[in-house]
Amino acid sequence: MLKRFFSYYKPHKRLFIIDFSSAVVVAILELAFPVAVQWFIDKLLPSGDWNTIVTIGVLLLIVYLVSTVLQFIVSYLGHKLGINIETDMREQLFTHVQRQSFRFFDNTKTGHVMSRITNDLFDIGELAHHGPEDFFIAIMTFIGAFLIMFNINPELAIIAIIMVPFLVWLVTFCNVKMNHAWKNMYSKIADVNARVEDSVSGARVVQSFTNEEFEINRFKKDNGSFRLAKLVAYKVMAGTHSSIYMMTRLVTLVVLVVGAWFSFNGKLTYGELVSFVLYVNVLIKPVDKISALLELYPKGMAGFRRFLDLIDQEPEIKDRPDAEAVKGLMGDIRFNDVHFRYDEHKAVLEGINLNIRAGETIAFVGPSGAGKTTICSLIPRFYDVNEGAISIDGIDIRDMTKHSLRSHIGIVQQDVFLFTGTIKENIAYGKKNASEEEIFEAARKAHLVDFIASLPEGYETQIGERGLKLSGGQKQRLAIARMFLKNPPILILDEATSALDTATEKIIQQALNELAANRTTLVIAHRLATIRDADRVIVVTEEGIAEDGTYSELVNQGGIFAKLHHIQFQEV
Ligand code: ADP
Ligand code: MG
Repeated sequence: MLKRFFSYYKPHKRLFIIDFSSAVVVAILELAFPVAVQWFIDKLLPSGDWNTIVTIGVLLLIVYLVSTVLQFIVSYLGHKLGINIETDMREQLFTHVQRQSFRFFDNTKTGHVMSRITNDLFDIGELAHHGPEDFFIAIMTFIGAFLIMFNINPELAIIAIIMVPFLVWLVTFCNVKMNHAWKNMYSKIADVNARVEDSVSGARVVQSFTNEEFEINRFKKDNGSFRLAKLVAYKVMAGTHSSIYMMTRLVTLVVLVVGAWFSFNGKLTYGELVSFVLYVNVLIKPVDKISALLELYPKGMAGFRRFLDLIDQEPEIKDRPDAEAVKGLMGDIRFNDVHFRYDEHKAVLEGINLNIRAGETIAFVGPSGAGKTTICSLIPRFYDVNEGAISIDGIDIRDMTKHSLRSHIGIVQQDVFLFTGTIKENIAYGKKNASEEEIFEAARKAHLVDFIASLPEGYETQIGERGLKLSGGQKQRLAIARMFLKNPPILILDEATSALDTATEKIIQQALNELAANRTTLVIAHRLATIRDADRVIVVTEEGIAEDGTYSELVNQGGIFAKLHHIQFQEV
């Protein structure tokens, strides 16, 4: 897995090398500083050579400047590296999700994909930046500082390093506590968010039950829990910082006292003592870094594992290597002994045979859950059949490229999905390179013009989350306009008007009839009045296709359809 992780560095090799080598130089300068101080105190001060002192001062200034620039590079380019890798991964993930088949979306929660695309990738990005850099630099400075200390005075070096394990233990212990506290805080803020979301989207329900007080009290409780969790987190953090501070000072103090004693016995010069005390800090700093990394590593790697889980899921429906990009299909659709199931448990379609001639309008009726939508989902290959075959114009749909097949099929469903954007953009979703004239023409054919003219900004009116809300009928007409633009030879209307009132349905129906002309049209409908003009009616039940014939034939047959007909027209 590490190998795959590092493969993401490849496109940013140069950035990595610059960042990493700058970090190495910064570390070396940091290691060299106490030695310089030691030399300054022991050699330079007693000599009283003011000129050299000034020269050294200027040299040090230059070194500091270089070091400052390098620190900036490390911090900025290091983060840039992390962000670049994060961005690459996010794009890869989004592209991958776009290519997934319907079954993937059936089984995936939106929230999970979202959290992978955001939170998980933040953690991975942080690790990608801090991981190799901090790890090597920390180890390098730690070992370097220890070796130099050992060289100055082995006994004192060992005394200093004996205390390091305690520090490691302390830092790790604090980190575990911090982790718990932050996790708890995140779960509490999620609760608060959920409350806000519920009460905003459920505002109508809240107010109609006059439950505002109740909601406020519930919110207060969650908000209070969050406050408490956050307080605990900060308390742990304060505790961590102060105990690490205390421990660091303790090591410094011990080194100072023991060092002073050594110095009385002539084992240590003043300069050595000062540089030793300085090295204690150089030695301890990496401990902090490594322990932060110990926390970051499992988080980032867990995120990376979740990322790989998704990335490694092959899309279910793929083009065959020899798939043909078909053009100009007429829409002659055949189901040949089609079997289909969504999962192992239950077969939905068992041996469906169906011939639909090009240009025909076919209505599917039957109880909900019988499989009407499923039949229609197989034609654009949203799912693949388990047995049997579906062909269009005599070509098995699995021998066509997905793209070319789907470009021949248009679907209007009960709930129309509108994207955030303008009316115009939403219509143009049916044909991305449509000209203005084409868009206006489509809107006209969909009987949308009067409505759009009534809007303050016409075609440029924003819809969606922060914009205009459309009624069901308006949304349907927008979906129809999209279809006029796409202009597919095969049209599927899946309960497109079922959610509308009868008056609106009549208007939409007119637009739909115009849309259906000269296309192979499959209509799924509940209200039989809307399918009077269909060439054929097919009754689908759980057992499969039960009846197939013209409207009047089926009524005269006196079967399932006749019963449906009588029930519906008695009501009216
Ligand atoms: P209809 O459109 O006739 O109401 P559907 O084709 O939607 O019926 O559903 C047929 C059967 O398949 C039902 O039992 C339904 O529960 C099941 N089903 C539909 N969609 C899915 C899905 N995405 N995953 C699993 N089962 C499904
Ligand atoms: Mg359905």
